[in-house]
This record gives sequence, C-alpha cells and structure tokens, in this order.
Amino acid sequence: MENNQHPNGGPNNQNNQNPNRSPKNGQTIVIFLIVSLAALIVINLFSSMFQDSTRKEISYNEFIEMLENGEVASVTLTSSEIDIVPIAQPFPGVEFTYYTGLVDDPELADKLLAAGVNFSKEVPDVGSAILYNLLATFLPLLIIWGLLWFFMRKMTKGGGMMGVGKAKAQVYDSQKETGVTFKDVAGQDEAKESLQEVVDFLENPGKYSKIGAKLPKGALLVGPPGTGKTLLAKAVAGEAKRPFFSISGSGFVEMFVGVGASRVRDLFEEAKKNAPCIIFIDEIDAIGKTRDNGYGGNDEREQTLNQLLAEMDGFDTSSGLLILAATNRPEVLDPALLRPGRFDRRVIVDRPDLKGRVDILKVHAKNVNLDDSVDFDAIALATSGAVGSDLANMVNEAAILAVKKGRNAVCQADLFEAVEVVMVGKEKKNKILSQEERRIVSYHEVGHALVSALQKDSEPVQKITIVPRTMGALGYVMNVPEEEKYLSSEAEMRARLVECVAGRAAEEIVFDSVTTGASNDIEQATRIARAMITQYGMSEKFGMMGLESAANQYLDNRTILNCSDETAAEVDREVMKLLSDSYAKAKELLLGHRDALDKIAAYLIEKETITGKEFMEILRKVEEKPEPEKAPDVIALGTAADGNSQETAGAVSTVSGTEPESAPPAE
Ligand code: ADP
Repeated sequence: MENNQHPNGGPNNQNNQNPNRSPKNGQTIVIFLIVSLAALIVINLFSSMFQDSTRKEISYNEFIEMLENGEVASVTLTSSEIDIVPIAQPFPGVEFTYYTGLVDDPELADKLLAAGVNFSKEVPDVGSAILYNLLATFLPLLIIWGLLWFFMRKMTKGGGMMGVGKAKAQVYDSQKETGVTFKDVAGQDEAKESLQEVVDFLENPGKYSKIGAKLPKGALLVGPPGTGKTLLAKAVAGEAKRPFFSISGSGFVEMFVGVGASRVRDLFEEAKKNAPCIIFIDEIDAIGKTRDNGYGGNDEREQTLNQLLAEMDGFDTSSGLLILAATNRPEVLDPALLRPGRFDRRVIVDRPDLKGRVDILKVHAKNVNLDDSVDFDAIALATSGAVGSDLANMVNEAAILAVKKGRNAVCQADLFEAVEVVMVGKEKKNKILSQEERRIVSYHEVGHALVSALQKDSEPVQKITIVPRTMGALGYVMNVPEEEKYLSSEAEMRARLVECVAGRAAEEIVFDSVTTGASNDIEQATRIARAMITQYGMSEKFGMMGLESAANQYLDNRTILNCSDETAAEVDREVMKLLSDSYAKAKELLLGHRDALDKIAAYLIEKETITGKEFMEILRKVEEKPEPEKAPDVIALGTAADGNSQETAGAVSTVSGTEPESAPPAE
C-alpha cells in the first residue's frame, strides 16, 4: 500500500531520470499533425471562398463584347482559361477578375491587339506542379502513418514502436537516495535485523568475500499488504546509501510476447550501470507465478520470468547489485525463483503486534501536535489486526479531525474517531432509518452486547451505536480486549459464536421475524465454526484431523478442503449443529434477560450511541446487582478505548455490515 506515493517510486520521483520514455513527444507530433491538417482545410476553404467573391465566370461572347466595348484592362491566357481584368473595379483595393474557358479562336490575338489590351500567356511552372502532386499523394499518407504510430504507442505503453520494451524503472538520484532509513520503519524488528545483514553485505562486500562467504543476490519480503515491505526495501537502499530502482511485477508484463523479457533486460542493464544499487520488484507474483500449472501457461509471463531468472544468474554479487522483491502470495511463486542464488532469503513482514502498533503510531505522529490525553497503548489495543498503512492513515485522519474541530493539537478522542473512520467508515448523518428499522437495529446490537457481557469468556463491551457508517454498517458493537492475545481457547471461540448469532436471536425474540441485517454475522459465525472443526481440532467427531488448510496465509480467509466429499458433507452437518447450538444458547441467554434487553435497547434508540459504562450501569440496575467498588476503566464515547479481540480492528458486530473480515485466531 502506498501512501501519497507513486506506485513505482516515492517521494523523490520528481528527480527520477527516465531517458527511455518520451510520451510527450508522440503527443506533440500528433497534435501538430492534426492542427496542420485543420489549418490546411481552413486556409483552402477561405481561399476558395475569397476567390469565389473576387472572380466571376462569363461566356466567351460576353468577353468579346467587353473587349469591343473597351472595358478590358488586361488578359492572361493560362493553359485552361482566360483571366480578364476589367477596367471598372467594383471593390476598391481588391482586384476583381472575370474568367472564361479557352476557345480555339485563331483571331483572338488580333482582337486583343486591336482593342489595345495588355495580354500575355502564362509559362507553366513545372516545379511547383510536381511539388503539389507529391504533397497531394504523400501528405494524407503521412497523416495516417502519424496517427497509427500514436495509437500503437498508446497500446504498448512503452517508448513507441522503437522502444516498446523499455523498462519503466525509476532511478533514484544517488545524492538524494530514498531518504528512508530503518528508523522510519517501526515494529518490524526481525525483518529489520535480517535486512541489516544485507545492508552490511552491500557496505562491506570485501569483508565477506575475503572469508569465502557468498553474498546473497536477493531477498524476498513476504507479508500482507500495507505492512511496510516497500518501506523496508527503500530503507535498505537508504541505509546503504545506494540508488534504488523500483518496478512492479505487473509493470513488466505487456500485451506483446517478449516485451516483459526485454524490460527485464533493460532494467538490469540500467541497474548494472549504476551498481552498487538496489532493484526492488513489488508484486513479484505477477511474473513469478509457478509455470507448470497445467493450464497451458502464459507465454509472455513465462518469458519474463525466464529472463529474470537468467539475469539473476548472470550477475556477479561482487558488483554490489541486490534484488529485493515483495509479495503477499508466496505460495504461488515458481520454486525456481526461491532456489539458492536467487531469492534465497525470505524476510517475513507480518502484521504488527501490540508493541509494533504503538511504535508505528509514534513514528507517524512524530510531526503531529499531540495533547496530553493521547495514549497510544490504548489505540494499539483497540486496533488489533491493523497494518502499518492503516495506522498511518489513522494518525493522519485524527490530525484532519482535530483541524476540523478547530483545535491545534490531536487528542485521544480524535484518534479513536479516526480508528472508527478507517475501520467502518465515516458516520452517515443523512441516512435516516425509519423508526421501525431503528428499533430492529437497536435490538440487534444490544443482543450482541448483552450476550457478550453475560458470557464471562467474551470481551468487555466498549461502545454500542446505531449511527450508520459509510462502509455499510447500520450499527455495531465494539469490544476491546484487556490485553493482546495470541491464543484463543475453545470456550472463548464458543462464546464468540454465541455472541455472533445473538443479534439475529434478539430480532427473532422481539419481532418474531428476522431481517437481512445478520448476513455479516452469519458469514463470520460460519467461518469460526468451520475453522474450529476443520483447523483447530475442536470437534469431538473429527478430533485432531486437519480437514482444511489456509489457501493464502496473508490475503484472505479462503481455505482448501483436504478431505473426501463424504467427510466434507459431515463437516457441513457439524458446522450446522455448532451454529444451531450457539443460536439456541443465545436465545436462552436473551430470554433470561429480556428486561435488560428491552431497557438497554430503548435507551440506545433514544441516545443512538452509548458507552460500555452506560450499558453496564443499566444492566446492573435491571439485574439488581450491586455496583462493584471500582467501575471498569471505560472512557466515554469518542474518548474510549474501543476495539475488539482477535478481529481486525473495528466493529465486532454489525447490521448489514461490510466491515473488514476478521483475522483467524492465532493458532
Ligand atoms: P507494502 O509494500 O507492504 O504493501 P508499504 O511499504 O507500501 O506496504 O506501506 C505503506 C505505508 O504504510 C508506508 O508508506 C508507511 O507510511 C506505512 N507503514 C507500513 N508499515 C509501516 C511500518 N512498519 N512503520 C512505519 N510505517 C509503516
């Protein structure tokens, strides 16, 4: 993920030199051609209109009559006509002429002489006639060729017909470098440690070669989007004070077979000229996908990959060239790319943990005015699952919110509001729900919150709201863990399931009908139930049998089934049972606390947003439980530490929500 940066470059890319591409030239030529053509047409039109008004055709008889009446001043005989200049000129300052066709009249010269008229015969201009003919033939051809050339150039996106294969590499000025150092990358300590070695190889190649150690040619940065892979690559270049060439894998592959390969060649040629330097290939999976997938393959991609492999084998590590690549789909990469001597180092750049998130927030808040209320630990706790780019975005969003509110420093409330804006979108003030819908949404959300509070394995409720958000949620409950957790127990998972289905259960109990609002809950509950059975060995029936595995570790929650069709059908039945048991449990809990459900829902309808503290106060009052000596440390709305447990930061339960998918609990 890029923040305010060019995908292939960075903040310095205005300094990039790219002699291979001149898209402006092509455009200029075409514009020039079009303008010339238009000008030619306009000139022709005007001159013919002008000529029409200053010339008039007459018959030969009329010409002879004018001659005899002494009205003719001079005559010019051309190869096809007679041009006559009369003595009487109708428009002062403009020469008006008559013309008539040439007639085979042997006495014409005598008649002209007799009338005392000046006359001459035009000498044909052979040169200009040839030029005219040439232009008439070749100008349209030239124009068509120009247009074709322009469109071909557009289609190939490269440097025109001659430069189709030129790489779109971005060279960083070696004086300015990338300007990024390891200090700018927070929280990725292991990744930084392993790349620190690489920096040392670059800085002191002699130290390693003296002892006989082979320097690495490349390192593969692997991790989910937005975790700072590009930033790390730039930091390596910055630390080693080397130029940085960056290109996206998809930037190599073009429509024509062979273009990608020639781009790879050009990129390496250019980089070798600037060595020691760093080449960074983002999204390497776009070209590095495994070749023998049995679907016939893609010639262009394969050729590009082959060229990349050949180039990687072809250079000498002592030249100081280092190739870094990034991907979030390492499992699809061709094994040839990962062999020793190629991308033999794998650096994991995973989602940051609690401390990592605090550090990232601090790095991005370095130049932001903060007031004393700011507590990054609370924000980090509420943003479990968020990646570096999300956190950077939150700090920026908080600063914008502070400005909007007319303050000159960011406070904790701004940061919390920013967390919600990034995770569930902005409040949709103009979306007016009907009274009945507000009641349904309110009961649905209180259903989630109440079940969460009633089960001791669920996390504390921090906020409940029925203000719709731009990312689709009509309402949501926020839970925040008391501490960062890496393991989830079976009891916690079961409690989570009951909480997930409790929104729908509340709707059914109160309205005796159900709505589409639970679709997101259903999806989430099904995913948790399935994972419990197929991946976490939490079902009696299948025990520890691994029935499913994650299809992609870093991108989404898709899984691959590793069992027979019959077992899969049985898994489905188990999932169904787990879900219906959870639903029954949710209904039982809510029916047992119907009074609390009604009272809290009524309060929520009135207030639209309530804090965890208000929620617990009503619950205790209704249940007539004495208030504990010290109320839980819950901060009021907007200043509260909101979030959730093993979910991606943001809303836990929504009504017709489209909020971010939850990350699977840590194994
Ligand atoms: P990736 O290449 O992994 O998709 P990027 O390196 O493009 O992610 O990160 C996008 C932005 O997110 C960075 O420019 C930076 O502002 C922010 N960011 C991501 N990870 C970190 C981190 N660990 N420390 C500081 N900022 C980060």
